[in-house]
Amino acid sequence: MNKLSIKWRLAIQFSSLVLLVLLLFGTAVFILVTQRGRQDIDAQLSLQYENIRGSIQDSISSHESLDTQDETLQKMDTAKYMGLLVVVLDPKGQPIAHSSNQKITPPWVGGYSDSESDGDRFRFYQGKVSGYAIIVGQNLHAFDENETSLLLILIIVSTVMLALSFGISAVFAGNAIQPLRVLHANVRAIDPRALPDSPLASQYPDDEIGRLAASFDEFLTKLEQAFERERQFTQDASHEFRTPLMVLKSSVELLGMHPKRLDSLQKEKLSLMEGSIRQMEVLAEELLFLSRGFKEMPKQKIAIGTFLKEFIPSFSAMAEQKQIALSLHVLKDFSVQTSRAALEKVVGNLLKNAIKFTPEKGSIDVAVDHQTIQVKDTGIGIASKDTAHIFERFYQANSSRTKGQEGFGLGLAICKQICAQEGWNIEVESGSGKGSTFTVTFA
Ligand code: ADP
Repeated sequence: MNKLSIKWRLAIQFSSLVLLVLLLFGTAVFILVTQRGRQDIDAQLSLQYENIRGSIQDSISSHESLDTQDETLQKMDTAKYMGLLVVVLDPKGQPIAHSSNQKITPPWVGGYSDSESDGDRFRFYQGKVSGYAIIVGQNLHAFDENETSLLLILIIVSTVMLALSFGISAVFAGNAIQPLRVLHANVRAIDPRALPDSPLASQYPDDEIGRLAASFDEFLTKLEQAFERERQFTQDASHEFRTPLMVLKSSVELLGMHPKRLDSLQKEKLSLMEGSIRQMEVLAEELLFLSRGFKEMPKQKIAIGTFLKEFIPSFSAMAEQKQIALSLHVLKDFSVQTSRAALEKVVGNLLKNAIKFTPEKGSIDVAVDHQTIQVKDTGIGIASKDTAHIFERFYQANSSRTKGQEGFGLGLAICKQICAQEGWNIEVESGSGKGSTFTVTFA
């Protein structure tokens, strides 16, 4: 899997192309320039050779021979031959003239040749006239230095261009995929249960990204329809539950009114039925609540500390049954614009859970401070693998530990739904055997 982002992959691919072009271009420039330099040297050598050959031929035709005192040979100094090395050998191969102090006498090979002497590279042109050999050579030191400089310049220019192209292509690629980033952020921000009013595609032109956005719109519409069907089904099912439940409940109540007609087994079964009917009622009510959403109640400014002082005592009896110490600490009271029913449902569910999952003689503390309510218990706690899921519908952490406890795993889902609707945040901090702290933060 490629972990690099599209931006960097595009930048690298484009820079690789630029590198290839630079390599080809640089190599071509280098070869052309050095070849041209060599051709110039060769042209210079053959020109000088022709000059010297002409002069020597003139001398031979006027004196019949050539001696070391010959004027042509005497003139052979460095200045005259522009730094060229000129050697004249007599027919016996003995040098009779030398233009340089460096007494280099290359072996006779004829024509153009390269050779090395005293660590210097030379290019030679050798030819003969009337038995005399004329060798014209050029020290390639300056040429080699130019070649190295050219190579260095090409490397520096290529590196700078490569770095520039990488930077520029990263910026261009970043700009090109910016709409994709925006689309990503928009899609992430969507709550599938409350789709945005305008389709995503309307924010983009009809290009690849626009078409991708349109596909998301299509997908989200299907998702919304699926949610709607699920919601409708849950609502209908829980609604339909109510009537037979009412019949069952009234029948059981009727039977319970005549205890004398019942034997002990029948009484036991009747009480079991009562318990199960109560649970079914709670389930139907909670499912209906979740599918319908929280009914908008008139909102009012509620001082949280004052509200809790009145509300918490309704749980005292439940807590006392397990000898659980239930306390309230208002460190800094604050007010929230909401409905009392919403607050009662959220805090009530948290308190019910805290009492349910705290063993006898434990403690529960409710603290109010800086826009938060914290419900902290010394109960069985929640394993870290479960904390991410407990707000999901029907999720019950480690059912073996909670076996025998009442509930369907809907209480926290309801809390979450109300908090989302009211713009509050709810989170939990817990660990197995470490107790739990639920925090509701009011925006
Ligand atoms: P339930 O009806 O099972 O209480 P909830 O949605 O209220 O459903 O809670 C989901 C699960 O989260 C519970 O079954 C329990 O495993 C865990 N849980 C919730 N509150 C507490 C708590 N205070 N201490 C330990 N576990 C908790």
